[in-house]
Amino acid sequence: MQNQKLLTFVQAMSRLLLNDPTEKIILAEGRGLLSTLVAEDDWLPEMFTHPHPQHYQQYLLYADPLDRFSMVSFVWGAGQKTPIHDHLTWGLIGMLRGQEIDTHYFKQTNGSYQPGQSHILVPGEVCSVSPATQDVHVVSNYYADQSSISIHVYGGNIGRIKRHVFDPMTGAPKEFISGYGNAVVPNLWN
Ligand code: FE
Repeated sequence: MQNQKLLTFVQAMSRLLLNDPTEKIILAEGRGLLSTLVAEDDWLPEMFTHPHPQHYQQYLLYADPLDRFSMVSFVWGAGQKTPIHDHLTWGLIGMLRGQEIDTHYFKQTNGSYQPGQSHILVPGEVCSVSPATQDVHVVSNYYADQSSISIHVYGGNIGRIKRHVFDPMTGAPKEFISGYGNAVVPNLWN
């Protein structure tokens, strides 16, 4: 079946969240599940791999009906980059294809945001964000001449969560909702 790996992940994630575990458990076990999923790049349907020429693209792969988690294919066009932003929920990022650069940002006493060390994510690698630890970052495609794809899992419906982008100089927040670029989702029921 075409989407068996995706279905297996969604089932395992749903099972993990059944008894309302702590975030620590979700991130530890979810990391393992996502590592398994991104260990091989042979399952993501082609229609969720296309970059957009102007901006990075987020395709919804699955959203839990109870909003306990959602999952997107995050597709970077060549040279694309996010603003400084938060998530306001836990998130797991698994690198599937290409590479991306993840840089945490830290609020200074004068209100501005300054970058910490950058980390390059390679295929098969998983990292996380969380309001409980470090939730503010900038992510960019490592490549200036090709696209990259990572699989993101969030602790809510990320296409509906009100969160923020921040002005680097003043730290002023601006509300945004990221939404989804696709009109159809993978068929997990066939
Ligand atoms: Fe992010």
